[in-house]
Amino acid sequence: MRRWKRWFLIMVFLGIVLGSTPFPLSPQPIDIILTPEPVNPELPPLPDFVDHLPEVLPPAPIRTPPPQFQGKVVYQVDLPASEKAIALTFDDGPWQNSDRFLEVLDTHQVKATFFVVGQHLELYPQVAQHIVEKGHIIANHSWNHTYHPLSPTQAATEVKKTENEILRLTGVKTTLFRPPGGVLDNGMVAQAKSQNYTIIMWSIDPQDYTNISAPTITQRVLSQAKSGGIILLHDGGGNRRQTLEALPQIISHLKQQGYEFLTLPELLAKSL
Ligand SMILES: [Zn+2]
Repeated sequence: MRRWKRWFLIMVFLGIVLGSTPFPLSPQPIDIILTPEPVNPELPPLPDFVDHLPEVLPPAPIRTPPPQFQGKVVYQVDLPASEKAIALTFDDGPWQNSDRFLEVLDTHQVKATFFVVGQHLELYPQVAQHIVEKGHIIANHSWNHTYHPLSPTQAATEVKKTENEILRLTGVKTTLFRPPGGVLDNGMVAQAKSQNYTIIMWSIDPQDYTNISAPTITQRVLSQAKSGGIILLHDGGGNRRQTLEALPQIISHLKQQGYEFLTLPELLAKSL
């Protein structure tokens, strides 16, 4: 046998032996078992609040005056010359038409400060919540709206009981107190000062509680208006139809004059 034939036969033999060996020299393909992708994978549900998130969160209202005003009596606020601002305040509510006052303020996109009487909260508790929900400031105007001298205990009760009721109804801790009738010396203001309240009086008073016409209320407010001023109006304590009627006129005229409407804490925050 010639040499190349012998090599040929050896190679054929080796090919047969190696091809049939139970121990493969090259790895056999491994069966990979692929788990099929779910066609519509179920996503975890979104948390409830996502539905209700506005695209841009409104700024949180300033509720607390700057520390230098705690325990102080304020009639008006000195503002920088660059600012032209004024504050609307409403006393003696909540009352039967208070929600209509809130509607007018909403329509004109104006925020105000409401000094509420504790015992009136018992009658219209939902109004207190509306005041806060709509971004206004709710403030303390005593429980019984009394003018006469009080013992320290009675005065403390007037302030604290109203404070607690506002807190219970709205979750807001009040920081502003307005004495009924503007009486500074019957004990209530001393109590409120000791609790670090800022005492808010006023500089613009059309005396809307004296049953004057809406145009007269408007004219009186406009004639007394100045920057940094605090306007005293009433949404409660009686029929305030004329005040309600005057309110859109007051707002429109003052806006035309370039006034910005601020809540009391906002106005105080801009003080010189
Ligand atoms: Zn009052």
